[in-house]
Amino acid sequence: MNMFSVISLIFFLLMGVSFISAAVFVAIWTYKDAKERGLPAGLWTFIVVLFSKDLLGILLYVLIGRRDSRFACPNCGEKTLTRGKHCSECGTPIDAAKIPVFRNARKWLVAFGIALAVGFGSIFGFFISAVAQPPEGLNNISIGSFSNGVGNEWTYTAMYSTQTQTRDFYITDKLEDELILDATASSGTVTVLVSLADETPLVGMSYPLSSGTDEFVVNHTTIPLDFPEGTRIRLTIITDRARDVDFSATLS
Ligand SMILES: [Zn+2]
Repeated sequence: MNMFSVISLIFFLLMGVSFISAAVFVAIWTYKDAKERGLPAGLWTFIVVLFSKDLLGILLYVLIGRRDSRFACPNCGEKTLTRGKHCSECGTPIDAAKIPVFRNARKWLVAFGIALAVGFGSIFGFFISAVAQPPEGLNNISIGSFSNGVGNEWTYTAMYSTQTQTRDFYITDKLEDELILDATASSGTVTVLVSLADETPLVGMSYPLSSGTDEFVVNHTTIPLDFPEGTRIRLTIITDRARDVDFSATLS
């Protein structure tokens, strides 16, 4: 499982937990609100949860269910409709000023809002920190980048990159006799420097893999290698204002 899969898994787990928490909060809020309004709280909570996927349940409750809100008549004390003109029990005219403000459920709504903001904030923050490396000055930044090196392969992707990265490969098998470089970028340049890691100063061959055009550039280069086992090959990828970078180096 590579780094990207792990990040995706954590991301979707966080999303799942957030949606379940949101559903629980909405259910609690509905129950409290319906109870305060003299409505069948259990039934409405069931409807809201049952149709929670497209928010139809909560919409039905707020627009239709709440129309039947009841309050205790100030005259006889029996529950009567808030939208009625007279008390259904004693017939006393209903004074709008005497209808209580239903606010028991409000604190649950506030809690839900805060939880939602914190939840989505942390998911967003997690995702951003996972995909973007911290900026190290204007000349060396990348946005939405992943570098992944497993065995004889190195891949580097970025939404935007203007930085330099280095990775060493060891020649471990006599069968490894070529280095395959592939790169695409929608603009900017991607250059790869291939050199021997133990040589100072580094002397190597520079391969411009994509050049600054507005068109989608694909470049494929195969470099024959002829080095003894244990030789350390150093690859340096230099990006300059490159967008939609997709680079891979494979030793095969
Ligand atoms: Zn009454």
